[in-house]
Amino acid sequence: MNNLWKDSDAGKTELDQVVYLSNLVGRDPTLVQPGGGNTSVKLDEGDLFGASASALVVKGSGTDLRTITAEGFTHLYSDRLAALQNFDSMTDEGMMEFMQACMLFPGRDPLPSVETPLHALLPAKFIAHTHDIATLSLTDTPSPRQHVASALGSAVAFLEYVRPGFPLAKRLAQLYADGPPATTTGLVMEKHGLTVWGDTARECYENLVAIIDKAEAFVAERSEGKEVFGPQTAPTLDITTRRKHASTLLPIVRGELSRATGSGNWHPVLVFTDAPENLEEIAGETFAAAAAKGVMTPEHILRAGVRPLVLDLDLDSDPTKLKDDVHKSVASFYGDYIDYAKTHEQNNPIPDFLKTVVIPGLGIISAGRDRRSATVAADCYRATLDAMAGAEAVESFEFLSDADACEMEYWPLERRKIEEKAKSRPELDGKVAVIVGAANGIGRATAFRFAAEGAHVALGDIDFDGVTEVANRINSESSERAYAVRMDASDPNEISSSFHEAVMRFGGIDVLFYSAGIAPGMHSVVDVPNSEVERQSAIHFEGAVAATREAAKVMLAQGTGGRLIYNASKAAFAPGPGAAAYGAAKAALVHYARNVAVELGRHGITANYINADAVDTRLFRERLAERAQETGKTEEEMLQYYAERSVLGKAVIPPEAVAEAAVFLASDRSAYTTGCAITVGGGHEAFPR
Ligand code: ZN
Repeated sequence: MNNLWKDSDAGKTELDQVVYLSNLVGRDPTLVQPGGGNTSVKLDEGDLFGASASALVVKGSGTDLRTITAEGFTHLYSDRLAALQNFDSMTDEGMMEFMQACMLFPGRDPLPSVETPLHALLPAKFIAHTHDIATLSLTDTPSPRQHVASALGSAVAFLEYVRPGFPLAKRLAQLYADGPPATTTGLVMEKHGLTVWGDTARECYENLVAIIDKAEAFVAERSEGKEVFGPQTAPTLDITTRRKHASTLLPIVRGELSRATGSGNWHPVLVFTDAPENLEEIAGETFAAAAAKGVMTPEHILRAGVRPLVLDLDLDSDPTKLKDDVHKSVASFYGDYIDYAKTHEQNNPIPDFLKTVVIPGLGIISAGRDRRSATVAADCYRATLDAMAGAEAVESFEFLSDADACEMEYWPLERRKIEEKAKSRPELDGKVAVIVGAANGIGRATAFRFAAEGAHVALGDIDFDGVTEVANRINSESSERAYAVRMDASDPNEISSSFHEAVMRFGGIDVLFYSAGIAPGMHSVVDVPNSEVERQSAIHFEGAVAATREAAKVMLAQGTGGRLIYNASKAAFAPGPGAAAYGAAKAALVHYARNVAVELGRHGITANYINADAVDTRLFRERLAERAQETGKTEEEMLQYYAERSVLGKAVIPPEAVAEAAVFLASDRSAYTTGCAITVGGGHEAFPR
């Protein structure tokens, strides 16, 4: 392990230094995975009452060591925390309440995490706790104590597995009432991770480096020249073939995961990873047997699932057979899962029972309620693969007993966090939407509304800079929600590859909003050029046909229904002189949508269109200027005229009003609406009469 410590970067105060230490640890995925691990320092500081207090300053709940700043730490009275030792038993809720009552600045700081007692009960000044691959390679085995002693000697203490939370705190208090032996610099916790300490942040980090180096050397020596999972059984496919198979398989897996429990509470976003080193690991002959034993550290059970499904598939089989095979495997996995849960008295199985699917030869599919959690699941499982390989080299991989794993998986404290989030689910939570024409106007407004309602959005537009700006704005609010792609709606190949990208990015598609548009060319029917007819048809009709083809294929593979929404226009219903090519293309789109509604309805896929008029977009403003010139009026006079002829007295309609209709049509609320127009036109002359 590289020693990255630089005094010049470490900061002056001890608080700065614990932040620096945290970031060094957090940025190394072999030490901690996103959100995992924690650090602390003990300081004397003034409290809210103006008194001096000795305080434990520890990473707060919900923070990440990679990016944590001083504000991410919570400050707790050390003397109050010490009273934890006086309790024989305590529920986790009781412990959390107790710890909150120990906070120096309850109105300001993040809540303490469940691993806080570990830092409170060890008397060292600086402490870092990791879920590192090196020491877990020693302890995720049948003989952990022996390997820790051989690899690390007596400078490191060993603790047999105890569940994190109060039981771990209690055990530490019993074993180390006056702190661990003075000669030790760290404590290896079986099947959980490592805790190191030091009088300074630098010493703590150097102790960490020294222990990790020794553990890594021990594992490396035993891995030398070994195929730890046996000979490779699946041929390694080239990257293009892998991605092609993955884009077929992702929607199938997504659909099966969504339907498996029948609860309707789990419609994950998927992330696909196929790093060469992982491909080698998962293709080994004994990999599946080892993988069935579990993951690397208790926290990963919550992030990546209690164990993965290893799918043995003939990737060249046709999609129907593929779907059938995936269905059978997921159903069988779920059957076993129910048995496991029931055996351990969990009669209410969680909906997210499976978050990692491994396909030898192809890669790993990770599931999460959003892309960010799916990425965390992927990072955790990739670390697990390395720890498994290390453990296999040292002895053999072994994780917690099913009873301990199940206790962790159903740990009420953690489940409650997930359930609380589920309660306040926004309307489009878990849905993936593709918006064609998202850089401006209605498409842009809809992208923001969909994202605000919890959807993941793949945004296509020929104006790549424009659509990238929309995606960046969405991602700055909620990371990894939006993805921008250059898309010329008149090019079916570009549409096809963009939809492929959307599937690779999010794992499937639930909603298509087709909003690509160009202005009418304004020609009389006696001299309209064919090029205008072709141009209008290509963007407003043929592009929608190509986008529907791609979206519907994915929706059918998922088998979880879908929403197709088209931005039609008043022109489809109320013809206007000079705009025949435009109006006819929009009318064709509307009739096409009705055909789609008829054909795909039985699959739970609806097709509806929005009849929008006088929407305040760039196209509208251009047309307004032209009209003003033609009629010799000012733009203000034109707007006045529009307002007067509108039933509702509105000159223009904000794009957000159309986006509102799109949200309804994308949501479960519109489940009984198909083949239908929603008019959003302020009652000019748009609605069919
Ligand atoms: Zn831990």
